[in-house]
Amino acid sequence: MGVSLADAVTISARNVVKAFGQGSGVVRALDDVSVDIRQGEFFTLLGPSGCGKTTLLRLIAGFEMPTEGTILLDGTDITTLPPNRRPVNTVFQSYALFPHLTVAQNISFGLEMLGKPASEVKARTAAMLALVKLEAMAGRKTSQLSGGQQQRVALARALAPQPKVLLLDEPLSALDLKLRKEMQIELKRLQLETGITFIFVTHDQEEALTMSDRIAVMSAGKIQQVGSAKDIYIHPKNRFVASFIGETNFLHGTAEAGAIRLATGERIDVPGLPAGGEATVSVRPEQVRLGLPSDGLKATVRTLVYFGTDTHCHLALADGTEVVARLQSPASGEAGLVEGQAVGIRFADGAVQRVED
Ligand code: ATP
Repeated sequence: MGVSLADAVTISARNVVKAFGQGSGVVRALDDVSVDIRQGEFFTLLGPSGCGKTTLLRLIAGFEMPTEGTILLDGTDITTLPPNRRPVNTVFQSYALFPHLTVAQNISFGLEMLGKPASEVKARTAAMLALVKLEAMAGRKTSQLSGGQQQRVALARALAPQPKVLLLDEPLSALDLKLRKEMQIELKRLQLETGITFIFVTHDQEEALTMSDRIAVMSAGKIQQVGSAKDIYIHPKNRFVASFIGETNFLHGTAEAGAIRLATGERIDVPGLPAGGEATVSVRPEQVRLGLPSDGLKATVRTLVYFGTDTHCHLALADGTEVVARLQSPASGEAGLVEGQAVGIRFADGAVQRVED
């Protein structure tokens, strides 16, 4: 049976530990991390500051060596291979361009260092300028470019030697919001056009959701969950993932067969839940439906916050637990909800997801 190219693994981290410091001051930046990153995918490491994203990227680049574990590239152990012997390039947040060189010289520099023949350097530089749409700027010094243009040069320079893997460490964080959104689309296009495996680091969940084929959500040196944006959003594994990706409501209760019983005495269906012990479920605000007080969990509207197309409705259950519903704003003239109103809460089919604590 053949292995399809789409599923081929390019980078594999196996039981990787990275500790910094010594004795009681030791920090485990990575604590037994194992992950497979597939050929040609846009893979994102997502997590809060200090969770170990950059450390994992630096181990893949070869700037650091793991304390334990191995890093494989196309099945070959590269754990101790120096950075310049790996078919891997990095784009840094700071761009790290040569300000006194032109755009074209910045792009060709790495190719020349690799000893490529002049004709190839010229052709590849031209191809890269076209790829990032900077042909008209080829002769400009990079110090004379805008932030977005500098970012494109940094990308072109890193892609020029055709690495197998491109590592991107928060490359968009220095750009303003509008430019960042444009560059998100641009990065995705570059990845699709080149077919190169991109490993992208960010702490911005929206950025991760919009660009990635798959995301690894990290916290405290561990990978909490790996999956597509949709997978992780719809089926978050634990509380951390559910609250880090998007907004959510947590409801806690006693596990009965196929349901949880809340402190209010009311039941919520949780298909497949075994009886015994406590359980927590997560329900996204857009999956909360409101109806008559006799229909579903009893609740009172506390506050309504208008966001244009949506209105966020903060509700309180009978025991005071807060539930947020994201509702489509009523059209003008249509009667909406009012604060203090008694309602019933129901959840959309499949919306109630059990999460680990
Ligand atoms: P950020 O988004 O802030 O860059 P991160 O998720 O990339 O965070 P890392 O930079 O990988 O996190 O750091 C993970 C942990 O390892 C942090 O607690 C950090 O302080 C520690 N750490 C990283 N590099 C070193 C180092 N060279 N020496 C000591 N501790 C380090």
